[in-house]
This record gives sequence, C-alpha cells and structure tokens, in this order.
Amino acid sequence: MIVLNTCHIREKAAEKVYSELGRLRRYKEHRANSGRPMLIAVAGCVAQAEGEEIVRRQPLVDLVVGPQTYHRLPEMVARVARREGRALAIDFAPEEKFDSLPQASSQKGPTAFLTIQEGCDKFCTFCVVPYTRGAEFSRPVTQIECEARRLVDAGASDITLLGQNVNAYRGEGPSGGAWSLADLLRLLANIDGLARLRYTTSHPRDMSDDLISAHRDLEILMPYLHLPVQAGSDRVLAAMNRQHTRDDYLRLVERVRRARADIALSSDFIVGFPGETEDDFNETLTLVRGVGYAQSFSFKYSVRPGTPAAASKKQIPDDVKDARLRALQALLSEQQNEFAKTCERRTMPILFEKPGNKRGQAIGRSPYLQVVHADDAETCIGEIRDVYIEQAMSNSLKGILVEHLKHRIAVH
Ligand code: SAH
Ligand code: SF4
Repeated sequence: MIVLNTCHIREKAAEKVYSELGRLRRYKEHRANSGRPMLIAVAGCVAQAEGEEIVRRQPLVDLVVGPQTYHRLPEMVARVARREGRALAIDFAPEEKFDSLPQASSQKGPTAFLTIQEGCDKFCTFCVVPYTRGAEFSRPVTQIECEARRLVDAGASDITLLGQNVNAYRGEGPSGGAWSLADLLRLLANIDGLARLRYTTSHPRDMSDDLISAHRDLEILMPYLHLPVQAGSDRVLAAMNRQHTRDDYLRLVERVRRARADIALSSDFIVGFPGETEDDFNETLTLVRGVGYAQSFSFKYSVRPGTPAAASKKQIPDDVKDARLRALQALLSEQQNEFAKTCERRTMPILFEKPGNKRGQAIGRSPYLQVVHADDAETCIGEIRDVYIEQAMSNSLKGILVEHLKHRIAVH
C-alpha cells in the first residue's frame, strides 16, 4: 500500500499529486500483472478538498482519506481488500479522530511534534485552510498532557506544539473552563525530563498578553517565534483579511522583544497578492528591514479555487511576482546570514538529534532552531550539550563541544 499524504495550500503542491499518481499507475499495473496487487491511498488536504474528483481523474486510487478521518483507515483498507469497492472518507469529526487514534506513539528520538489544535476560523482571503481543515478545534488539556508525558517517556526532550492557529488554543481545562495556550505551556513546563517547548503557527491577532509573559517567565520556552505577517502594507493586509495593521504587528514585535530580548523571529510572506502595487511591495521590504528576521518562508500568491481572492480581477502577472519574490528572498537570506553570523564565537546549548554524514559527527538544533554540526559528538545524541559555534555556513552552524574545546586549549 502506498499513501500519498498531500498538501493543498498552493497550486503547485496540489498538482504534484496527479503527476505522482500517473507515475504510480505504471507501477501498480506492473505489480498486478505479476500477481502482486497493491493499494493506493490519497490522504491529506488535497483528498479533503477534491474528494471524488481524485478518483475520477485517476481511477487507480483505492482510498481517499481527509485529515479528519485518519482513524478510519484500517476499516477502509479492510473494506477495499474485501473488494467492496473504493473507500472515501472526507467528513469533519476532529474530536472523534483524537479519541480513536492509537496511544502508542511512532515518534522516537529527542524531538517530537504534538498536535493541540486544528482548523481555522479566520478566513484570510487567499487561504484554503478554513475549508480543508474546518473550524477551530482544541484538544482538552489532560489529553495533551498525557501525550506529552508519553513522548517524554519515549525519549523526547524538545516538543513542538502544533496547530494551524496554535495561539488561538482554547482547550477544556482539567476541571472545566477554557485554558489558553499560555496556561497549557505553564503546565507542560513542569514535566520532568522535558527541556524545550515550542509552538507553531501563531496568528499575530492571538498573541495575548499572557502568552507574551510566558516568553518572559518560562525558561523552557525556546526563544524562537514564528509569527507570519504575510505583507507590509495596510491596504494589502486589509484585502487579505488579516485583521491587523502593519503598526499592530510592529508594536507586537516590540512587546515580544521586551519580554524576551534574545527572541529570534520568523515569518511567512506572500508576494503578488491581487492588487499589490510596487509601493505596497516596498512596504513589505521596509517592514522586513525594520523587524530583522532570523528565518523566513516566502511564496508567490497562488490562486486557490473557492477562496475570495481567487475571484479578484486584479491578479498580478507571474513575471512581476517572480521579480518581487527574488527581491524579497535576497533581503531575507541576507538577514538569515546576518543572524547566523551573530551566533559565531558564542556558546549555545545544542540538543543533538542524529548522526551526521561524517564519522563521529552529530547534528543537533540550537535554541533558535538552527541546524548545528559538531565533530566527535556521536555519543551526545539525545542530550543537550554546550557547543562553541565556530562558523556560520549557508544553512547551518559548525561548532565544537565545549569539553573538546577545553581539551584543545590544554593540548596547545
Ligand atoms: N495559520 C498560519 C498560516 C498557515 S498556511 C497564519 O495565519 O499565518 C502557511 C503559509 O502558506 C501562510 O502563512 C502563507 O504565507 C502561505 N499561503 C497560504 N495560502 C497561500 C496562497 N494562496 N498563496 C501563497 N501562499 C499561501
Ligand atoms: Fe489560513 Fe492562517 Fe489565515 Fe487561517 S489564519 S485563513 S490558516 S493564513
């Protein structure tokens, strides 16, 4: 059985599914001819959004399963295996899913992800998420705490809480009442054996005072925040229905930095949103210069059928989008390099995750989520060690274990 887990956020990602299915068709036919049948499932948000259309375009698909119904997969596979026809499950029932997924976690190793929230009620005019993932839903606190403890018991010491709108979290507390993300973080911070907490993705409008204070109070909360702004012009932000202005965002960044001076910021950007003028785009550049990002993700606006912006008559030509994306990415990568340079000659706690390509080398993450390589560190995998950063490379940092550094000084 092959499962294609799919993304619908931009057109390119969605189209890849069909080209991949074309390739798999030959493989499936070849196997069928030699008496070794196989199943093909399409899962994820393309499955959710396109449903039966997938089977119409590519009849070799046996199962179509949306993100809200993964727990039905075993039953669906059994049905197809009994030759009862194709199976399709794309309804919305998030509570049921979390209640029915197996408790045993397949995640092993020092870093883990934990979904605490799904869906979105914000309806940015470019975005498919509210349609593919449905309304905001938060898992109850106790369920999350149990899962976090299980992950830590299985070896995790760095947990990232996940949600499409993670800071809109409002989950049922242990004795009723709704808990915020900040409340939840304060609880999880006490789990023995857990060293690092992160959360993603946040919406600027939901960055509440108590969440900002958590960045000041909780040592365990890593100094890295992904806070997408998308664009720098008020006109475009309003047309996107982002529900905040440029100034709101800049003031928010200031407040977050006041709470935690060393916090590193990252963001998502969209260039070429319908109606975006050269002046609007320049405001994105000036916002980026004003904030200074450690890391960023930037995209050309992609028309998503069914979203309000798709119907706009003011679509931007592709060559203009290309030029803007190049200009923005040049600035963002300059900032990323600058940030990496500021890490040189500093000592940072690195959580080592896996062996590197070179013998004895290990790869880990800094508090700011940067990839760090160190030689002779293989025995440190699963542990946090102090590393002296020698050099910033294009997408990673090179360091040396502080204990080796002392040895090196002694030898010289
Ligand atoms: N909830 C998060 C983002 C989730 S989608 C937020 O509000 O910030 C992840 C990113 O994909 C978005 O931040 C946006 O930059 C990008 N994206 C979403 N729809 C897009 C589209 N139609 N075209 C281009 N990029 C898009
Ligand atoms: Fe999409 Fe994020 Fe806007 Fe929700 S808040 S509609 S997920 S971009």
